Amino acid sequence: MSHTPASAAQHLDALIIGAGFSGLYQLHCLRDKLGLSVQVVEAGAGVGGTWYWNRYPGARCDSESFYYSFSFSDEMQQEWSWSERYPQQPEIMRYLDQVADRFDLRRNITFNSRVTSARYHDAENRWHVATEDGGRYVVKFLITAVGCLSSANIPAIPGLAEFAGQTYHTGEWPHDGVDFTGKRVGLIGTGSTGIQAAPVIAVAARHLTVFQRTPNYSVPARNVPMDPAFLREVKANYAEIRDHTRATTNGHPWDIGEKSALEVSAAERQAMYEKAWEVGGLRFRATFSDILTNKDANATASAFIKSKIRQIVKDPATAETLTNFDHPYAAKRPPVDTDYFETFNRDNVSLVDIRAAPIVRITPTGIETEAGHYDLDIIVFATGFDAMTGPLLKIDIQGRDGVALRDAWAHGPQNYLGLQVAGFPNMFTITGPGSPSVLCNMPVAIEQHVDWITDAIVHMRDHGLERIETTEDAMQGWVVQVNAAAAATLLPQASSSWYLGANVPGKPQVFMPYAGGMARYRRICDAVAAKGYEGFAFAR
Ligand code: NAP
Repeated sequence: MSHTPASAAQHLDALIIGAGFSGLYQLHCLRDKLGLSVQVVEAGAGVGGTWYWNRYPGARCDSESFYYSFSFSDEMQQEWSWSERYPQQPEIMRYLDQVADRFDLRRNITFNSRVTSARYHDAENRWHVATEDGGRYVVKFLITAVGCLSSANIPAIPGLAEFAGQTYHTGEWPHDGVDFTGKRVGLIGTGSTGIQAAPVIAVAARHLTVFQRTPNYSVPARNVPMDPAFLREVKANYAEIRDHTRATTNGHPWDIGEKSALEVSAAERQAMYEKAWEVGGLRFRATFSDILTNKDANATASAFIKSKIRQIVKDPATAETLTNFDHPYAAKRPPVDTDYFETFNRDNVSLVDIRAAPIVRITPTGIETEAGHYDLDIIVFATGFDAMTGPLLKIDIQGRDGVALRDAWAHGPQNYLGLQVAGFPNMFTITGPGSPSVLCNMPVAIEQHVDWITDAIVHMRDHGLERIETTEDAMQGWVVQVNAAAAATLLPQASSSWYLGANVPGKPQVFMPYAGGMARYRRICDAVAAKGYEGFAFAR
């Protein structure tokens, strides 16, 4: 569907920005359950959001397929069959395409259209929204479903524009792929993305040079084809599994271990880590109760992973560079991998420590560090994102009295429950900063937010209310809770983490997600609603 010409603004109940998991489900709820007039505006040519753009080699979800999916339709979860333990990007795209088809969502999505501004008009209690291609909308509710990791961060390295080869950011990957055959490839970045991409690029390229600034912990994913018997078991027990994911700290269907890493004997601890290493995946960090809260407990996990990497990597100097950790395990989002450390045993792969000898510039023929020059044909930036606030602040959002969100958040994001900002009535941010979002299995966090927003709109309809806006007091109270939740963990101790905004020069350093756990957060949100939406002010 194309947008309405500039002369005629489209008047709607709600506009949703983004057609990823969040936008699709929010559209379904508002249009099909509440009967509202709704349009989604999506910058991509298809649905998928973050997954639409992140097509880099090796792109795969780190959550397991059977629960990295929507739970709202039992028919859908019974019919859909995942092919692997962890879904690859193309399979997630097929899944979201069938969601869009099944619920006939595309007819209310405007593709290839980017929202540039959204301004709240107090007298009308309406948001006026404009898109890059001249679309205009006047809507009661503005719902951002822009994703947390959708604004690419390409470091401003001197000389970048002069590079004679090709450069790519993993989050803006060409749809027809990149041919690495016979090429000397430089990969900058060793977060979850770089760790997934390196083994796959290494197989295709003539030579891969990985430029590592901060060594990263990683645990084997242990991906395997889906076992049909396991999938049958899952489908037979989906209701229970979904309930479990909703009741846990990180939205995964497993519980964090009850024992402290420090209360068991060294032999028992080793055996438990060995077992978790064999199982693989993100649940490694749940082996003990206090890995994320107690530095000494965390050190045992860190030492174990270090010993594993040293066993895998044959060259001791390379192993040393890969394990010279500067932060507690899982204080940054812990990657999981398929043959990442094994990749450094290949003859065509080398590791460059750019913390010891930083990059000086990019030259027409490669990358120059303080230690030497590396000749390259292709540079891949796996350098992450202007996370959480970036996608929101790219849009010129102005609330009451023309106050810009960019100014309101000049010192870091502030909101109530990660859902609403004081001064921005009728605007909701799905999985925004201040909510568990990126610390949780995303579809669980998304469904909780979408359901809560949908219920709030039903409440307004039932009570003849036209405007909902969090109070300044509630917002400030929540900011205190977000900070306290982070301070109770080791998470803020990773000083270069994107959770803190520390990966983007000049960005205010504030711990952005709510670290108190999804289960607790859900209880707080439910209690707020049960008390008549405490902390929100309504107007007729
Ligand atoms: P990231 O975690 O922010 O990692 C970026 C990497 O680039 C880091 O190694 C960083 O080094 C490096 N870097 C950044 N700027 C640099 C510079 N100027 N010079 C040299 N190195 C630089 O980004 P990401 O790997 O794309 O992952 C982001 C998030 O996306 C993940 O944490 C995860 O939540 C999500 N993700 C999920 C999946 C999945 O589930 N399948 C896969 C990939 C990503 P420093 O550490 O020194 O800053």
